Amino acid sequence: MPEALGDTPEAFLAALDGPTCIVLTGADPSRCRALVTLLHGNEPSGVRALHRWLHAGIQPAVTIVCVIAAVEAAQHPPVFSHRVLSGRRDLNRCFRAPFDIDAQGMLAQRILELLVHFTPEAVIDLHNTSGSGPSFGVSICADDAHLALTTLFTRRLVHTDLRLGSLMEISEHLVPTVTIECGGRTDDAAHTVAWAGIDHFFRRPDVLTRRADIDVDVMRNPVRLELTPACSLAYADAPRDDVHLTLRPDIEHYNFGVTAAGTSLGWVRGAQLEELFVAKNTARNCLLKDVLMLTDGELITRQPLKLFMITTQPAIAKMDCLCYAVQADGRELIAGQRPV
Ligand SMILES: [Zn+2]
Repeated sequence: MPEALGDTPEAFLAALDGPTCIVLTGADPSRCRALVTLLHGNEPSGVRALHRWLHAGIQPAVTIVCVIAAVEAAQHPPVFSHRVLSGRRDLNRCFRAPFDIDAQGMLAQRILELLVHFTPEAVIDLHNTSGSGPSFGVSICADDAHLALTTLFTRRLVHTDLRLGSLMEISEHLVPTVTIECGGRTDDAAHTVAWAGIDHFFRRPDVLTRRADIDVDVMRNPVRLELTPACSLAYADAPRDDVHLTLRPDIEHYNFGVTAAGTSLGWVRGAQLEELFVAKNTARNCLLKDVLMLTDGELITRQPLKLFMITTQPAIAKMDCLCYAVQADGRELIAGQRPV
C-alpha cells in the first residue's frame, strides 16, 4: 500500500479517481471508526495527514474507514484551492433531504450509507478554517464521548444548536460525531494537529472515554458577526476614509483569548454600526449592541468576549462572516445582558 500512495499529498490526490473510501483493517476488526475529510476541496490538512499516516504502514487499533470526499474540487487547478467547483452546492450543506437533486446531494447520501454500513463507534470530520487561527471542534452534543473525541485533536469545542445541513448533524443520530477545524488551511501547525489527532484516533484502543485531567474550553451557541452588503472594508493600522470599515490588521490575534471590554478592533467612517454589521445568534436575535459599540468613530468591544474564526481576508469576511463570539467564559451571549 505505501508505495501506491505517491511521494506527496499532491501526488496522492492526483491519483484518486473521484470521491474515495479507504478501509484499513484494524488489530481488532470487530470495531470500526470513520474519518471523513476534504468535504471542502480547499482544506488540505486531512488529506496531508492521512497521506503521511498511510505512508508509515502501521496497522490501526480498530478498522478505520476513511472518506475523501470533494476530490474533484480539490484536483481542480490550482490544487487544494477550490472549496467547491463553481456552480455547485457546498457539500457540507447537503447532508439533509432531498438528496437526489444533484451530484453533491447524492455524494452526501452515499457517505451516509457507508456510515450505516460500517457502523463506526465514532466519526471525525476533519476541516480547515479559511483564516489562520487555533484548532477547535464543533459538535451538536457536548457529553463525555464528544469531549473525549475533541481532545484527540484540540482543547476547544463549539457546542452549537445551529443546523446547516452538515455531516455531523445527521450522522450524530447514528454515532458520536465531531467536526474538527484543525486550523488555517495553509498553516503547518494545522497539518500537525490533523496528523497527531488522526494518529490518536486510529491507534488508541479507546477514544470515547473522557480523561479527567484534560480540560476542554466549551463555547456555546456563538453569535455570527456578519457584514452587510453595504459595508466596504479594508485592513489597515489607521482609519481609511475611502471605506466604511477599517479593521486592524492584527485582529486575528484576538482568536480565542479573552478580548477585554473596550478593545479597539478598528474604525468606522460615514455609517452607523447597524448599517455595517449583523450579529445573529442561533435563535436569529440580533446582538450587535451587546457585542460592539462606536466611540468617536472607533469600533470597540462592548463586553469581555471570546472571539474566534476571525478572518483577515476581505472576501471571506464579506461572503461568510467576520468572526464568531461568545461570552468570555464560553457561555452564549444573551441580548440585553451587558454591562452598562
Ligand atoms: Zn470545511
